Amino acid sequence: MAYCVNCGVELDKTCEVCPLCNTLVHHPKEKTDRVSPSPYPSRRGNTDPVQRADVTVLLSVVLAVTAIVCGLLNLFVFYGTYWSLYVIGGCGLLWIFCLPVFFPSFLVYMSLLLDGIGIALYFGIIAILHPGNGWYFALALPIVAAATGMILVFAVFVKKMHASILSGAVLVLMEVAMFTVTIELLIDRFRGTRMGITWSAVVLTCCIVIDAALITIIRRSRLREEVRRRMHI
Ligand SMILES: [Zn+2]
Repeated sequence: MAYCVNCGVELDKTCEVCPLCNTLVHHPKEKTDRVSPSPYPSRRGNTDPVQRADVTVLLSVVLAVTAIVCGLLNLFVFYGTYWSLYVIGGCGLLWIFCLPVFFPSFLVYMSLLLDGIGIALYFGIIAILHPGNGWYFALALPIVAAATGMILVFAVFVKKMHASILSGAVLVLMEVAMFTVTIELLIDRFRGTRMGITWSAVVLTCCIVIDAALITIIRRSRLREEVRRRMHI
């Protein structure tokens, strides 16, 4: 019985090289058996790796068929309400979310913008099915637009400025504060009450305090290095 000198795997007497690590087999007393058939197949059985195009086709087909089948069910079997529009809209939205997976060269900003438009359209479907007090144009659309804009600003900041984690955190907190204030003002306008900030002021205060601390850390090199060392960033 022989063993590989490199990886220690047990070797068959027909082996000239180790089947695991390809190290040459040399046994000073035994000769390699060149007559018996090798217990290992001569060709490696590899399966082709899954291509991105296959995933794109598979997911697109599944989403499209789901949307079509639900549409038909709604038309001919479970009619009465337009429930299938939720499913069709959801399938479309999922497809838009998957665009960066399908097309990796797709621009990040463009895909984020399309995500925002997709979410706004999905709320639009809900607004068509539940028309009411104008919540869509007064609340949903501005909130989705504000969120999309802020995420885009963050993406541009990180990509173009090669921002560190600390400066990225400063921007996120600023955006969270602005977003919270925007939501409160929009709700006030929607309800017809006096516009002003109350609960969002608490969030605003917390963000300002944490941002002030973060900016101080960034500007003081000794503090910055200490934080980086302790937090492994
Ligand atoms: Zn080996």
